[in-house]
Amino acid sequence: MSKGVPRPAGPFVKAGQVRIFDTTLRDGEQAPGAGLTAAEKLEVARQLARLNVDVIEAGFPAASPGDFEAVRRIAQETKGGIAVAALARCRDGDPQRAIEAIKVAERPHLHVFIATSDIHLKHKLRIDREQALADAVRWVAYGREQLGRDAEIEFSAEDASRTDTDFLLQVYAAVVEAGASTVNIPDTVGYAIPAEFAALVGRVVELVGEAATVSVHCHNDLGLATANTLAAVQAGARQVEVTINGLGERAGNASLEEVVMALRTRPTQFGEAGSRVQTEQITPASRLVSYLTGFAIQPNKAIVGGNAFAHESGIHQDGVIKNPLTYEIMTPQSIGLSGSQLTIGKLSGRRGLQQKLRDLGHDVEGEALDEVYRQAIALADAKKEVTDADLRALMEQRAAEVPASVELVGWSVTSSHGGNAVGTVTLVVDGRERTTEATGNGPVDALFQAVDDALQPVLSWHPALAEYEIKAVSSGEDAQGQVLVRCRRSSDEGPGALVVTGHGLSTNIIEASIEAYLVAVNKLHGAEINGVSVAFVAPRIEEGLP
Ligand SMILES: [Zn+2]
Repeated sequence: MSKGVPRPAGPFVKAGQVRIFDTTLRDGEQAPGAGLTAAEKLEVARQLARLNVDVIEAGFPAASPGDFEAVRRIAQETKGGIAVAALARCRDGDPQRAIEAIKVAERPHLHVFIATSDIHLKHKLRIDREQALADAVRWVAYGREQLGRDAEIEFSAEDASRTDTDFLLQVYAAVVEAGASTVNIPDTVGYAIPAEFAALVGRVVELVGEAATVSVHCHNDLGLATANTLAAVQAGARQVEVTINGLGERAGNASLEEVVMALRTRPTQFGEAGSRVQTEQITPASRLVSYLTGFAIQPNKAIVGGNAFAHESGIHQDGVIKNPLTYEIMTPQSIGLSGSQLTIGKLSGRRGLQQKLRDLGHDVEGEALDEVYRQAIALADAKKEVTDADLRALMEQRAAEVPASVELVGWSVTSSHGGNAVGTVTLVVDGRERTTEATGNGPVDALFQAVDDALQPVLSWHPALAEYEIKAVSSGEDAQGQVLVRCRRSSDEGPGALVVTGHGLSTNIIEASIEAYLVAVNKLHGAEINGVSVAFVAPRIEEGLP
């Protein structure tokens, strides 16, 4: 087919390269409870740029003004040949909104999709195949016309793996004619099996030839997302849609770190088709995403799990010491795990700190460095040694800063065995100082109650606590405590409710708890009073996405 269609110039994959399309900020962010602020999304986008992915899918601009703004800011800021993609349904309004958000990008990448499987057409969209085909062609052509010949126009056939193959190929042929430069094959529901999926990919590769890049987007419902993605690369796919830590709806997406490290570790299996990812940035990226979303990484997770490079059992350890290759197929350094857990004392200086942070994947200079230095020194006063884990926690805390309309002035609590706790807090709420006292069944409960009481005259809701977690940042009895809370507004219930995370960090766990609670309150408050600048993304739309 369409061999005669000239392939538009643009950010195509070079021969022998697999384009890494990261969708952590779009598909990953759809994971329930993963809602990020615009500032947090920007922070993740900066790390994805350091990781040197090829495409950052920044969001779904039609979902909310907050997501629009986040995508626009990422599009504005991202340089260095990295494309910024936005998702749109094939429906009047969506592509326009997406184009508006990404047209400022150095490399705009429009991603339009429509479902093509009979089950989705019948029960979700209530349209027939002809209509779906016509809509797909219409909006691909529109995108090409608006963004010009150099832009990347990607089309996804949602639920492709459950679509009638003849119809699927007909759709892909038509959208390539209409100007699509990438055709994506999503295994939206994680249904495919590697050999079967590779056969499908092979047929699409054969169909579109040189006219478009073939992409895949695999979900992990059967634990096969990475396997399916790699089988697709072997069958000729040259774009893979992946997320950091495999974050995503339900069981998540194919994980970036697994796919990238497989390509790198076994190049001959993929015809030497590698990626340009700076793999040393994988660990910082993984930690940042885990921290901001509040989703912990299981210890045995491939590549980025806490135990992935720990060779604990005696016999392995002996082998690894004699020659690491006995049990290590990748080095910890290759994914940015610094071997050292050396501590820094009070005298290591600003420059030493800067180098240490660089080793941990954080580039800090100027005023920001001064501030981190002050914080690190204060910490060194509070506890004997400041470890890598402490520094990482400090940097993470900075990444998650939110504008505060509610600030803590002070607190106190009394608590004893067998009795209630009584807590007092003083807050500044929208510029006015308020002190309240409350009782609870423990010190944290009493203080959270006091915060609720202080907020009560100002807000029409109170924060409803959905999750509370506490962990030590490092070992030792003077370790810092890191608290994670997840909250929603009491007035906002049901599956579509906006759920935010809040983090606190202190050598005093009660202080860390209040801090975390107030961060969540400020996010919820900000989302209410200002849908854009403190933007909460939460693209909760009723129908699914690819
Ligand atoms: Zn998806």
